[in-house]
Amino acid sequence: MARYTGAVCRLCRRERMKLFLKGAKCDTMKCQIERHPYPPGLHGRGRVRDSEYLFQLREKQKARRIYGVLEKQFRNLYAEAARQKGITGENLLRMLEQRLDNVVFRANFGASRNQARQFVRHGHVTVNGKKVTIPSYQLRKGDVVGLSAKAKSMIVVRHNLDTIDRAVPMWLEVSAADHTATVRDLPLREQIDVPVREQLIVELYSK
Ligand code: SF4
Repeated sequence: MARYTGAVCRLCRRERMKLFLKGAKCDTMKCQIERHPYPPGLHGRGRVRDSEYLFQLREKQKARRIYGVLEKQFRNLYAEAARQKGITGENLLRMLEQRLDNVVFRANFGASRNQARQFVRHGHVTVNGKKVTIPSYQLRKGDVVGLSAKAKSMIVVRHNLDTIDRAVPMWLEVSAADHTATVRDLPLREQIDVPVREQLIVELYSK
């Protein structure tokens, strides 16, 4: 499956904000945004002419990068969100949140969405007791996400479980005893804390 393999911190620098793509490093002074708070490249510090299109494009890129979704998959998600009832932008964000790799991250099993995706791809994650290796798998209300027996004994997973104290969203219920996360409900917009103005993405794709 295709995925972005370039320098991750460049993505934050391009969006001029922390996207928290690298787990613990993001909270240290090693964060590239702290050291180079301007876009990458030769003309990174040059003047940028603002435009409506630029704002819309940047918002879309930011959302893609936060969730680690490539352009084609993002567009397909948008098309699906537009087909559903309700507000398209909110549908889109909700579908991004319902991805299996995102839920593994939200449940604090993974330090970053990238790491969570790797756990899924390597077969360390189960849904309702069955192994699922598709990071984009859409979870539904009532689904139970768990870790394989091998994953529970992995040092990196144990370290995550012991050290990460991010707040778990209300729509997820995490059991520390058996290392499972249950999707209590579908996430509402106010429960999604990503700094994305989804209306700008809708405007971009509606052109
Ligand atoms: Fe972004 Fe984290 Fe890299 Fe900082 S350390 S630039 S927040 S990925």
